Amino acid sequence: MSTKRVLNFSAGPAVLPEEVLAEARENLLSFADSGIGICEISHRSKPFTAVIEQAEADIRTLLGIPNSYRVVFFQGGATLQFSAVPMNLLGRGQTADYIVTGHWSEKAVAEAKRVGQVHIAATTREGNYRRVPRPNEIKLSASPAYVHFTSNNTIFGTQYKTEPDSGGAPLICDASSDILSRPLDIKKYGLIYAGAQKNLGPAGVTLVIIREDLLERSTEALPIYLNYKLMAKEKSLYNTPPCFAVYVVGLVAKWLLKNGGLPAMARRNEAKARKLYDCIDSSDFFRGHAEPDSRSLMNVTWRLPGEELDERFAKEAQKAGMDGLKGHRSVGGLRASIYNAFPPEGVDTLVSFMKDFAARNG
Ligand SMILES: *Cc1c(COP(=O)(O)O)cnc(C)c1O
Repeated sequence: MSTKRVLNFSAGPAVLPEEVLAEARENLLSFADSGIGICEISHRSKPFTAVIEQAEADIRTLLGIPNSYRVVFFQGGATLQFSAVPMNLLGRGQTADYIVTGHWSEKAVAEAKRVGQVHIAATTREGNYRRVPRPNEIKLSASPAYVHFTSNNTIFGTQYKTEPDSGGAPLICDASSDILSRPLDIKKYGLIYAGAQKNLGPAGVTLVIIREDLLERSTEALPIYLNYKLMAKEKSLYNTPPCFAVYVVGLVAKWLLKNGGLPAMARRNEAKARKLYDCIDSSDFFRGHAEPDSRSLMNVTWRLPGEELDERFAKEAQKAGMDGLKGHRSVGGLRASIYNAFPPEGVDTLVSFMKDFAARNG
């Protein structure tokens, strides 16, 4: 069977490694010689227990997660974590600090406000989120329950190069669009969460990495599914987990290990992004949205001289086999999402197309 695939620049759900998809396809009908497909097998079965344990082990290896952290697979996307984080970690009478760098940070703030007191420690809203805040712009409250930030701003195309300083409070990160794209020093974090559908796997599973001592903040009053302590104790198997999504995340983790782990992935991602930013910078025809020192290696955002040209670019690119380049409506212009699995040759194809388009329309 031959399947025609296009270059998929979608921000999420996003491209997955072809090897991973091929292996998943093999196992749809019968997994691990069980005669039962991976979507049909019991989450309490031996083969699936091995899948979820290996997925966790491989993620631990990739990120070098210390034993004092727990790894939990949730459903509900990053959006449910916007609620779970304050519900578990923001005690009565306490304040949570949020650094606001885009649409997703705003959503996280909105959910935290339903739970308790929120202090905006910094925002780069002015200028439409072209950058992340500088260290001296972050004004923490007196004694925050935690400090929340968004490591990569999927829509605006900005990314932190290093973590903001939380002044000793637990640092909480929405890493939905750059988790496993580069090595991280997990010890700097209290909690990291990431919806899988950008850089980890299919939609339906959310990875949560949480420092053990923070589990003590989860109270009995919480809805059971939102209780970090309980979900960690039950090893993500309190109820039926999103089995297929966890399985594919496991395959992606295995693919990353086979390809040199996160240091190699970081180099590959830097090289891909550099080609696009070089192309943008080398021509007056293109204008990048993000300020250079805040540029994302995952989502590259730029504009042409006028909306009409933006639209024509997206349409012609689509005809040339490049899908998903239209920017988010809040930024406009174009966006190329080039996560781990996006092939370097695909970036070359886009760069050639950009040069050609500029020559024809500039
Ligand atoms: C996509 C995205 C979200 C929303 O994720 P869901 O899984 O759809 O809830 C949140 N944060 C960031 C940074 C994202 O890129």
